[in-house]
Amino acid sequence: MLKPFIAANWKMNKTSQETEEFIHSFIPLVKDISDVDILLAPAFISIESASRLLKSSNVLLGAQNVYHEESGAFTGEISPDMLLAAGCSHVIIGHSERREYFSETDDIVNKKIKLARAKGLDVILCIGESLEERESDRTFDVLDGQLSGSLKDLSLEGITIAYEPIWAIGTGKTATDEQANETHVFIREWLGKNREGSENVRIQYGGSVKPENIKGLMSQPEIDGALVGGASLKPDSFAKIVAGASGK
Ligand code: PEP
Repeated sequence: MLKPFIAANWKMNKTSQETEEFIHSFIPLVKDISDVDILLAPAFISIESASRLLKSSNVLLGAQNVYHEESGAFTGEISPDMLLAAGCSHVIIGHSERREYFSETDDIVNKKIKLARAKGLDVILCIGESLEERESDRTFDVLDGQLSGSLKDLSLEGITIAYEPIWAIGTGKTATDEQANETHVFIREWLGKNREGSENVRIQYGGSVKPENIKGLMSQPEIDGALVGGASLKPDSFAKIVAGASGK
């Protein structure tokens, strides 16, 4: 049994002050939960203030993106060393919004993961199919391509996979518990066939996860946690999701 891992992806939401207000309310709600790994991924600009407040708490800190070069003339980008110095232990890489709006390919995702891992950051790698790909029965081919490309020449150490069907992100449509589990089974089998140590990799589900559906999702054998967008923006709601994953 893998320890459940619940992560909040705040996307482009919350100022530093709003981040601090969230953390002040959230920590007391989850302070007694020790059987779930909990992570917040605020905007870059809020990471340092979040880091100060999360120190000595049971909540981990991550970023939503990172660049694949160590330093230099890359205006507007953030390096793994900067994230580590600011207190991050994790970074989300390959989110579908980055793939869609910022043209991130599997090759770029692969470069980002390589540098992040080399520097010691743990990675949440996001993969998932579009509605059109699902409806034309191409889900497993798409995931196969994303996994092979993103994980090229990489071991599984320090990696969590977030399976996020694009059609379920921010839409209110969740994959059914069984649909999600079936895809997680495919991912687990892919990892087992292609890499050592697949049994230790946590596979999160992401896509309109909320307090009402977390228990059903977590009751599935291959779902080890969740990557949560909209429902992670309110302390109560996100704390209920964490509580729903506790006791698995
Ligand atoms: C996400 O963007 O990672 C996500 C899962 O968003 P939401 O929970 O809002 O669907």
